[in-house]
Amino acid sequence: MRVPFLAGNWKMYKTVAEAVEFVRSLKGALAGVQGVEVAVCPPFTALHAVARELEDSNIVLGAQNMYWEEEGAYTGEISPVMLKETGCRYVILGHSERRQYFGERDEDVNAKVKAALKHGLVPIVCVGERLEEREAGDTEKIVGTQVRRSLAGLSGTELARLVVAYEPVWAIGTGRTASPEDAQEVNAFIRRVLAGMGGEEAARQVRIQYGGSVKPENAADLLGQPDIDGALVGGASLKVESFAAIVRAALRV
Ligand code: PEP
Repeated sequence: MRVPFLAGNWKMYKTVAEAVEFVRSLKGALAGVQGVEVAVCPPFTALHAVARELEDSNIVLGAQNMYWEEEGAYTGEISPVMLKETGCRYVILGHSERRQYFGERDEDVNAKVKAALKHGLVPIVCVGERLEEREAGDTEKIVGTQVRRSLAGLSGTELARLVVAYEPVWAIGTGRTASPEDAQEVNAFIRRVLAGMGGEEAARQVRIQYGGSVKPENAADLLGQPDIDGALVGGASLKVESFAAIVRAALRV
């Protein structure tokens, strides 16, 4: 029922020329692939060029962040209207790097999620605990609070439409991956929290990804878990071979 969703978060990598060359090659590698949804999330500067390159392909476009206002005197920010016009379908919100380096709070993420939905963008809402929080046994407390606050005030229909990415902070860019069992446990917990917020039907429909050092070697085991509906991939999405291999792993499970 839930179509697996693989999204590449390129972070602050690739110039426009590199981005266009990459998606040309990715289109070839994924030609004819069906049964999964694939998105790339380039830096803002490359969105327009990548959108043109992705026309009539089976790959969709996402952005890595946005502000919640439609327009205004907010130097350096990008609005949902601008992302929509560029051809984005998805927008990553509340990534741990935004929370850690740019001070984003759950309240900010919540305002962004509401603005994204209002403008027809599908938010990929990131949550996840830090290492010390996991070691203190606080994973569910932290992740539950992030989910409840970041998604506060949404209807069951809205919750059903969005994507949540469980990304333990200690697994992002570190080469350390959560075990499939640990990731499954937290994803199932998130689904229960969402059921409490928006009802069982919304919880059944919402896609919950795992993210944190996903690679071709560990993708099938992670994606084979019942509550892991795809992956948000950082480092391994920057090379066509490894990202395409992760997409193919999703097809096999
Ligand atoms: C990410 O940036 O969302 C991520 C999961 O990164 P990596 O795959 O490199 O750990």
